[in-house]
Amino acid sequence: MSRLVILGAGESGAGAAVLAKVKGFDTFVSDMSAIKDKYKDLLDQYEIEWEEGRHTEEKILSADEVVKSPGIPNDAPLILKLKEQGIPIISEIEFAARYTGAKMVCITGSNGKTTTTSLIYYLLTQAGMNVGLAGNIGKSLALQVANEQHDCYVIELSSFQLDNMYDFKADIAILMNITPDHLDRYDHEMQNYIDAKFRIIRNQTVADAFIFWQDDSIIKKELTKRQINATVYPFAVTKKDGTVAYVDGTMMKVDYPSPFEMKVDDLSLRGQHNLYNSMAAAITANLLGVDTACIESCLKNFKGVEHRLEKVKIVNGVCFINDSKATNVNSCWYALQSMVTKTVLILGGKDKGNDYTEIEDLVREKCSALVYMGLHNEKLHAFFDSFGLPVAEVNSGMKEAVEVAFRLAKPGETVLLSPCCASFDLFKSYEDRGQQFKECVREL
Ligand code: ADP
Repeated sequence: MSRLVILGAGESGAGAAVLAKVKGFDTFVSDMSAIKDKYKDLLDQYEIEWEEGRHTEEKILSADEVVKSPGIPNDAPLILKLKEQGIPIISEIEFAARYTGAKMVCITGSNGKTTTTSLIYYLLTQAGMNVGLAGNIGKSLALQVANEQHDCYVIELSSFQLDNMYDFKADIAILMNITPDHLDRYDHEMQNYIDAKFRIIRNQTVADAFIFWQDDSIIKKELTKRQINATVYPFAVTKKDGTVAYVDGTMMKVDYPSPFEMKVDDLSLRGQHNLYNSMAAAITANLLGVDTACIESCLKNFKGVEHRLEKVKIVNGVCFINDSKATNVNSCWYALQSMVTKTVLILGGKDKGNDYTEIEDLVREKCSALVYMGLHNEKLHAFFDSFGLPVAEVNSGMKEAVEVAFRLAKPGETVLLSPCCASFDLFKSYEDRGQQFKECVREL
């Protein structure tokens, strides 16, 4: 019996273990941290051996193959040992894909993955397809392959998942954009991160589709260096050579395979970044044969994803928007860019080596005031104070930040939480930060 060891028992690891067990592997799960009760119960239910709080090497190094959680770095000591012994290390997605013939629609990029993945999933389910949602969101792909039968999976893939994918092939691969992120996991070499993202098109043939943002300078450069076997479907605001989806006047158009157009103003997701997300989703649905009337109605009615430019409430004429997921400067750029009124921006948190130059012009153009919310606001003061905008500093948390921002905002303006930073100084996670923001707004 072949031995499969799973490192990390979160959503993906627990799912991989269940699939391994169902497929007859000698299965063992090891997690350095505490395993959540719901995953323990699942493992017990399938009589899968597991350990937590340690990695027992003799039980792990006896594996024929290892499924590694994307959270474990490739240079962790145990991973290096496994590599030394020549034991193959794969991701949960790679493992699960061996056991399904379903169509794989895969989305990656530095920003916009969750929004685009959710939108595509919404489109395909509304079209009546039997589809599963997996990867960074939804249920583990492996668990769905073990227990459910879907004809198609929409999968959000991070670069960490892609790192350990080898034979997997996406029928439709979507690359939203590439900007610097997670470089600490890539030896601070941008090219390593780019190479990880491009693994999304590995093994594709001409029968498969590669959808990408044509104006991304990094993607553009890579395309001149690489051989692309898939059929390409680029999208861009302005039509150029080969562009399949673009804007023409007031209309968003998709030329191929079924020509289709709708008013940009009718798209439910606002802002230029969301235009890209909508285009990528429209091309995908179109390729999968979804009726164009259905595509249009879904793009009009999609409710959006929590914590991403999420409209919370209008209070005394001030509109509050929760963009807590903007954990880097680039996503704040897109948020500001989509603002249609003067904006009081709440930003700050755990700085990941941010360079605020990217949003300098937009802050000058769109912001009426700034609220710094974090334990270390020195960098924000140093960068923005000279702009001459009213600036407030809060250290006690979200309630104070919301109240101060509300006081600074005039009726007709917007208060935008788009922090540019991770949330771990004052909050448990970006979800916690966004949740607190919404609660405080509702209490105003
Ligand atoms: P991801 O899953 O890649 O982190 P999300 O869909 O969760 O992306 O969006 C995160 C943030 O990134 C949003 O709050 C938004 O401000 C910004 N964003 C969304 N889509 C894009 C895009 N296509 N390009 C750039 N930024 C985007």
